[in-house]
Parts: sequence; C-alpha cells; structure tokens
Amino acid sequence: MRGTGQAARRLLAAILGGWGALAACAAPVGDMEDDMASQRARLLASLEAEGIRDARVLAAMRSVPRERFVPEEMAEHAYGDHPLPIGHGQTISQPYIVALMTGLLQPEPHHRVLEIGTGSGYQAAVLSGLVARVYTIEIVAPLADGARTVLAGLGYANVEVRTGDGYAGWPEAAPFDGIVVTAAPEQVPQALVDQLAPGGRMVVPVGPVHAVQSLTVIEKSDDGRVSRRQVAAVRFVPMTGGPDERPRPR
Ligand code: SAH
Repeated sequence: MRGTGQAARRLLAAILGGWGALAACAAPVGDMEDDMASQRARLLASLEAEGIRDARVLAAMRSVPRERFVPEEMAEHAYGDHPLPIGHGQTISQPYIVALMTGLLQPEPHHRVLEIGTGSGYQAAVLSGLVARVYTIEIVAPLADGARTVLAGLGYANVEVRTGDGYAGWPEAAPFDGIVVTAAPEQVPQALVDQLAPGGRMVVPVGPVHAVQSLTVIEKSDDGRVSRRQVAAVRFVPMTGGPDERPRPR
C-alpha cells in the first residue's frame, strides 16, 4: 500500500512538475522580470547579512540586472552568491566579492576608475552608477565585444571597453582615482601603480596561478607614497598576458 501511495505521489509530482515547467515557459516577460527582481532583492539581503554595509554599493548592485551578464541558460542561477561560467574558461565573479571589492575602492561620484578584466561587464555596470567614468580592459576579444554590447544595450553610457592586455593599463586615460583588477597577477603590474592618482586606491588579488590569492589594497598618498595591505583570501582566474607574452622583435 505504502509503495503504491509513493508511486502515486511521484506521478502527481511529475505531472505538477510538468505543468510547472509549462507554466514557466508560458510566463509573460513581466512575470519573469518580477521574479528576477525578487531574487535580486533576496541576494542583496543576504549580502547585507554577510556584512556588506556600504549603502551606495548595495544600491548600485540593486540596480544592475545580473541575469543580463550571464549566458541565457544560466539566467535562473544569476542571483546565487557564487561565480558562474561566462565562456572562454572565464567566470563572472561571486556577488559578495564584487560588493567587497567595490566597497574597498571607496568610489566617489567624481572618480574615474579603471577595471582590468571586463569579463561579463557586470563589475563595470556596478561601478557605472557609482563613479563618473569607468574604463575597462578585457584580453579575450569575444568577451570584450559581448560586454560592450550588453553595457550599451542597458544604457551604461559612462563605460568604455577596450580589447587588450591590462598589464600596461590605459596610459591615455590615466591617472585613475581607483583601479580594480578582477584577474589575479602574480605580481602587481608597475604600470598600474604608476597610473594611480595621488590619493588613489587599487584593489587587486595577488598571488600564484590557480591557488589562493591575497586580496590587496594599494593606496597612493597625496605625496605619492605607496602602501599596501592584505584584506582577504580569494580565488580568481589568472591574469594572462604581461611582458613575457608580448611579441618580441626578431
Ligand atoms: N569583472 C568580471 C569578471 C572577470 S573574470 C565580471 O564582472 O564579469 C577575469 C577576466 O579577466 C576574464 O575575462 C579574463 O579574460 C580577463 N583577463 C585576464 N588577464 C587579463 C589581462 N592581462 N588583461 C585584461 N583582461 C584580462
């Protein structure tokens, strides 16, 4: 009897599950947007509970539709607090880490910020609402192109995406009030330290490839002195490129 009851319940669950899936397919766009907005609100509440208290950072993240920065088939997972694959062996960072790094930058509305590692464009979109201008560099051309398209489509007009190697920074736009590096170099590229404005701040995961790295804050004082402190253990994809991989004259 019990067995039959279980089988009947499984059958009912399968039918209901099937209807659920059908209903989800047929859901009007407005419903899906509401659903994403409520998932986003839950994520923000959990980030707050985990200690992210910077109201401006929370407001900026509340305004960015993370589902638009992940591959379509990942959209339903967009508001989990974890990284997700974005193709080309790369990932969109975990929301908690985006919030942490953005807060450590101490962005101000007049700031000009450089990001190394555009990836999906999500971190750049979060910064877009917090600062005057965002310059972001991505070494994988299709990712740079994808991020440029999504950012423009969503109206983030103060973000400029460059395809290239972030080791050299963006000298024409320097100096920057803030630099955020979202791939891990083994050593901090000197060009990036040079491109920090006096009073500027860089947030960068430093350490060996495919291991735990130290999330490091580098500050340049008004008189140009550079100091650094380590704030957390993190795990980022490696920063590729760099002087060793540049084509050499023959
Ligand atoms: N900030 C991204 C996550 C980035 S993942 C987001 O919000 O989605 C790290 C990115 O850094 C990857 O896309 C990788 O291709 C890129 N990257 C690695 N080395 C780089 C380099 N030298 N210059 C620019 N981008 C680099």
